[in-house]
Amino acid sequence: MRLDIEQTEFAAAVRAFAQDQIKPVIGDFYERGEFPADLVRELGKLGVLGVTLPEEYGGAGAGLFMLGLALEEIARVDASVAVTVEASVTLGAEGIARYGSPEQQAKWLPRLAAGEGLVAFALTEPSGGTDAGRTDTKARLENGEWVIDGAKCFITNAGTVMTDLIIATAQTGPGEVSCIAVEPGTPGLEIGPEYSKVGWRASDTRPVYFDGCRVPESNLVGQRGRGFVQFLELLDSGRVALAALATGSAQGCLDESLVHAKEREAFGRPIAENQSIAFMLADMRLRAHTSRLAWQDAALKADAGEPFGTDAALAKLHASQAAVENARDATQIFGGYGFMNETPVARAWRDCKVLEIGEGTNEVQRMLIARSLGV
Ligand SMILES: Cc1cc2nc3c(=O)[nH]c(=O)nc-3n(C[C@H](O)[C@H](O)[C@H](O)COP(=O)(O)OP(=O)(O)OC[C@H]3O[C@@H](n4cnc5c(N)ncnc54)[C@H](O)[C@@H]3O)c2cc1C
Repeated sequence: MRLDIEQTEFAAAVRAFAQDQIKPVIGDFYERGEFPADLVRELGKLGVLGVTLPEEYGGAGAGLFMLGLALEEIARVDASVAVTVEASVTLGAEGIARYGSPEQQAKWLPRLAAGEGLVAFALTEPSGGTDAGRTDTKARLENGEWVIDGAKCFITNAGTVMTDLIIATAQTGPGEVSCIAVEPGTPGLEIGPEYSKVGWRASDTRPVYFDGCRVPESNLVGQRGRGFVQFLELLDSGRVALAALATGSAQGCLDESLVHAKEREAFGRPIAENQSIAFMLADMRLRAHTSRLAWQDAALKADAGEPFGTDAALAKLHASQAAVENARDATQIFGGYGFMNETPVARAWRDCKVLEIGEGTNEVQRMLIARSLGV
């Protein structure tokens, strides 16, 4: 798809930051399992975290397409930082921008748009994430406050030094799910320790517990009982963003593999001169290309206000599979080095699997696509 000048310049600025600032240092953060707060803050200064948020609060007021361009460039180098941005913007800050009250927007959006704060969106529970309508966490109104009890698991951005807000889904009545914002430090909110993850090791993922956690009634985000609908809408955008992220991973695997295959020699010639390797590179290019077309098509429809739920599912399903396959081929092209954590494609190999799980597993995407076919 042809980019206009503004899109080209924005993508180029994010690419330069990713290549010059993230790429040289992210491997060490990854090995330590450490959240790279300064890098995320710098992305905030570049405007990445505020790109979709309203201009009146300091955002750029641009759409999902612009965010996708940034996520693709970041993930081309590292998926941990990309998912930090993706989860905070599409599932968190966008929730406040779309459904929050004017008071909530004025209170929280300026810092989020400036990239000084992050949001965690807490939907998944220990008893299951796919069956998301079944929310065991409960919230009851008592003297003008919501009292929340329950537990969430696998929550991205829940415990970073930058986290301003956790937006949790909770049952606020029989068959009624609502979204409630909770600020870190609220009594009764406990943020668990960072999980030991296979991949995305420089992103922050934790369990969250609510034990008689009290927040003002005004912390309800959106209408009472509309939480399920709200998060389904946010997840559609999230899937497009995750597809852009997956495309970046797929492209990054190709970038690295191409350089390596041209340099690495076996039997007196570069391994790229073997047709089996060259064809692998061609397939990787194809997967990155079709993934890009898929997420960009879905994003353009979203930004035009057209229905895009099925396109989001198609993009997420295709791009996540492409990323997994490119990571597998890239590690093969790198041989033994592909199994060493110091090699970026080894990180990609560990990172990409979760793309088939998060924000609706690929089984869920297939269900949505099948449903759109009337089956
Ligand atoms: C690193 C990481 C970060 C995450 N970040 C967040 C976050 O920020 N916020 C958040 O709320 N969640 C987050 N999640 C959770 C994620 O969204 C869930 O793991 C995912 O939705 C799947 O839920 P589950 O793990 O409970 O699997 P389950 O729901 O137990 O599903 C297990 C398997 O069964 C399959 N399955 C279930 N039902 C069906 C069916 N009807 N037909 C066919 N197959 C089916 C699923 O596709 C899956 O393969 C994160 C997860 C990870 C790993």
